[in-house]
Amino acid sequence: MSAQPELRVEREGQPKKAVDLLFGDLWGYAPAPESTGPVRFEKRYGHFIDGEFVAGDKWFASVNPATEEPLVEVAEADEAMVDRAVQSSRKAYDKYWKKMKGSERAKYIFRIARMIQERARELAILESMDGGKPIKESRDIDVPLAAAHFFYYAGWADKLEYAFPGGKPQPIGVAGQIIPWNFPLLMAAWKLAPALAAGNCCVLKPAETTPLTAMKLAEILQEADLPPGVVNIVNGFGRTGAAIVNHADVDKIAFTGSTDVGKIIQRALAGTKKRLTLELGGKGANIIFEDAPIDQAVEGIIDGIFFNQGHVCCAGSRLLVEESVAETVIRKLGHRIQTLRVGDPLDKNTDVGAINSKPQLEKIQELVDSGVDQGAQKHQSRCDLPAKGYFFRPTFFTDVSPSHRIAQEEIFGPVLSVMTFRTPEEAIERANNTPYGLSAGIWSDKGSKLFKIAGAMQAGVIWGNTFNKFDPTSPFGGYKESGFGREGGRHGLLPYLEIG
Ligand code: ADP
Repeated sequence: MSAQPELRVEREGQPKKAVDLLFGDLWGYAPAPESTGPVRFEKRYGHFIDGEFVAGDKWFASVNPATEEPLVEVAEADEAMVDRAVQSSRKAYDKYWKKMKGSERAKYIFRIARMIQERARELAILESMDGGKPIKESRDIDVPLAAAHFFYYAGWADKLEYAFPGGKPQPIGVAGQIIPWNFPLLMAAWKLAPALAAGNCCVLKPAETTPLTAMKLAEILQEADLPPGVVNIVNGFGRTGAAIVNHADVDKIAFTGSTDVGKIIQRALAGTKKRLTLELGGKGANIIFEDAPIDQAVEGIIDGIFFNQGHVCCAGSRLLVEESVAETVIRKLGHRIQTLRVGDPLDKNTDVGAINSKPQLEKIQELVDSGVDQGAQKHQSRCDLPAKGYFFRPTFFTDVSPSHRIAQEEIFGPVLSVMTFRTPEEAIERANNTPYGLSAGIWSDKGSKLFKIAGAMQAGVIWGNTFNKFDPTSPFGGYKESGFGREGGRHGLLPYLEIG
């Protein structure tokens, strides 16, 4: 038998080794771009008010982050436009939606779900063009899960009193919903589906860099014959979001985004009657014990931080690995990141697409530089990057100390910080040593250990021997500075109901 080539973790600046031969050349794929033929969209979108598209007067461009070319223009809603949207929702709430039987509301929500399924391919392509995420991610995760959320909550609309036995659940009124750019359509679904099922009307604001699928969703709402005003959608920047938050006739705010903005919103709403749920940042830890299925765990880590460019608030951006298996795990990780295909989001083989925007790319670079400056060891994929577009090579750090910025701050990019531990207590202590508390993963062969560790973790979502798995029936949300309130499942109805 011939000797195996030596495989080891590659450090920056070192010459190409056998790993390149094995994983670079041998595993190369021919381009397989998804055709953009089936998609049609306008050059400009205003807002969706009272069941109609209305123009704005101030326009800005949403850029395709993989090409740096403007993709579509959208209008910026000012306070008057937000007021128009809120009044439209109020009227729809009083006139139809709160009076409608749950079984009737369910039919609309079910219809929306079906139409998302029917237009799944178009929505996936648009999501990838506007946001930069790989088509296999938008096609297999974002769009099917968005449809699943509408299906799931359609089922609850006529069963609210069974969801909360003994209570008399009533809708709250008009919900203002502000969403981020990492899962544009899916976040719209997470917000709209439970709110509508519970009998509320909504004013939704997509993120400024990813408005396109929200505008397509507006087309779907129109085609589904949803009564005018039940959902209004306004485009714009943070100012538009603030106008929704501060509008006197909004009864509830649901926000997903950065912890900094979440704090601003919480301060703005203090002392008002408005209800609030916040889903904010995270610094999720994946804990690998020595008895874990190591290859499976490495794949889970890759999924948790590198797929979708690390643009996931519940990303597993820290890896805590038991010292006895650290060398093996780091070696395998080093090999695996060389096989990740970075590039055109519309290519069906792409694993890591474009970073959503230039400022986000700069933020990732700045934090990675801080890791090097603070003395951590950088390991980076040597893949070629496209000449244009915002791309970042999958990167992980070893020799990370818990006080390093890369171990504490949310990077929101394909960057992993690896630390080791000797005892379960140390693993728990390190995992909880962050201001956040959104997600965690535990990898071990022993079920009892999984449950014991999970019980000690301050995180809203904990996966055992897997990572980043979602289902509409399962509640999602944070502890500490990751926010409060739950989305998904029966719990996801609660923020939109008054239980009398
Ligand atoms: P990120 O850092 O992930 O871009 P942000 O928190 O800045 O997250 O943005 C998330 C959403 O919040 C976007 O739709 C954005 O326009 C909106 N937003 C930003 N600032 C404010 C604000 N002060 N009030 C309300 N919404 C805001």
